[in-house]
Amino acid sequence: MAIATAEIKKETKKVPLRGMMDNVMEQFDSAADQINLHPNIRKILSITNNEIIVNFPVKMDNGEVEIFTGYRVQHNNALGPYKGGLRYHPTVDIDAARALAMWMTWKTSLAGLPYGGGKGGIKLDPSKYSQAELERITRRFTFALADNIGPEHDIPAPDVNTNSQTMAWMADTYMSTRPPAERTANQHVVTGKPAGSGGLEGRDRATGYGVYLSIKFWSEKNNKPLDGKKFIVQGFGNVGYWAAYFLEKDGAKMVAVQDAFGSIQNQKGISVEDLFNYVQLNDGSIADYPKAKPVLDKDKFFTLNCDICIPAALGNQITKENAPRIKARLIAEGANGPTNVEGEKILLERGITIIPDILCNSGGVVGSYFEWLQNRNGELWQLDEVMAKLDKKLKESFDKVYDYAKRESLDMRTAAYCLAIERIERAYIQRGIFP
Ligand code: GLU
Repeated sequence: MAIATAEIKKETKKVPLRGMMDNVMEQFDSAADQINLHPNIRKILSITNNEIIVNFPVKMDNGEVEIFTGYRVQHNNALGPYKGGLRYHPTVDIDAARALAMWMTWKTSLAGLPYGGGKGGIKLDPSKYSQAELERITRRFTFALADNIGPEHDIPAPDVNTNSQTMAWMADTYMSTRPPAERTANQHVVTGKPAGSGGLEGRDRATGYGVYLSIKFWSEKNNKPLDGKKFIVQGFGNVGYWAAYFLEKDGAKMVAVQDAFGSIQNQKGISVEDLFNYVQLNDGSIADYPKAKPVLDKDKFFTLNCDICIPAALGNQITKENAPRIKARLIAEGANGPTNVEGEKILLERGITIIPDILCNSGGVVGSYFEWLQNRNGELWQLDEVMAKLDKKLKESFDKVYDYAKRESLDMRTAAYCLAIERIERAYIQRGIFP
């Protein structure tokens, strides 16, 4: 009885909003317990190696100077150089950068890449700045990061609100600030560049393609053909669009979409290409798309009727508030950290499968690895080769996680974490701790 009273008290107390870091640490802790992770290695992996915060001035179009704050968190490099994206968003802060950097460590380890994990970005709303201002912001940020990034040290990539153009500016700035003879040898300081400037054919679609493949692999294993299945997508950016594009090709039907500007649905289906073309002409927004109805209450989005739900925007979207009412039987995490621990618990109790971010969206960083190899070796790969290599790599990762989860009776996230952490643990045990 006493316990029950205490619990009720705890429930009614106003709980502060949980940060992303709470989420990733709880996920890490439960996997670490599961595999009996060595306590020393647990200590190392529980904190970040380096945290770089830079404040830098940029001249705006009106002649005024604005100061921006940029972050780069380097979580771990036991398996290779730090790797991970840079996002431009008002929610970027040290907590978000730490959590996202940790997720990258698990993601690259699980994918079997020779990388560690890092992440960062700038706290800003890019829609408030002109293209010329964004270019100067990006170049000045790159300059401020200086030797904290580097092609064999820490390799940024696109993330939320950054793209191949951002990476082209970064690569150009970094290369331009090297001695002349070293410039081209530094092209792989960032990945996700435009195909004409050292970028990889297919890197644009790699993340969304990976999301689609994970859904396809799961559907094959569970005898649930994609043809006729309904899916909803949160975020119609690079990841959401390409995932939807490939799912539609396999006969699945997109029935609802949400972005930063609005939510729409049409249970008869929304054409992916038609919506994409509309968005290009509508300042990047899905709002007021004429061939679907608006969903007026944006909090109801995840509870709409569908078989598959793809959160492909920001973190902490599926929570205890909406998890009890979600209709989808499969959640494929295109975003990083879209489901928080409380939301996940409810989904698992309801028998809903989650393909976790560190597996589901790993096509992006696998594509980045291919780009990095291509630059390092002075090669140019063709699209069909890239797609075939992605397929093979993602199938291997998917099977590993799926089999581990079945064998150990775990959910797929815990299984993915166990595999990722075990690989890093092995590296530490082999090498020992300096000195
Ligand atoms: N930003 C992407 C991610 O979260 C890609 C990272 C990369 O390619 O380094 O996985």
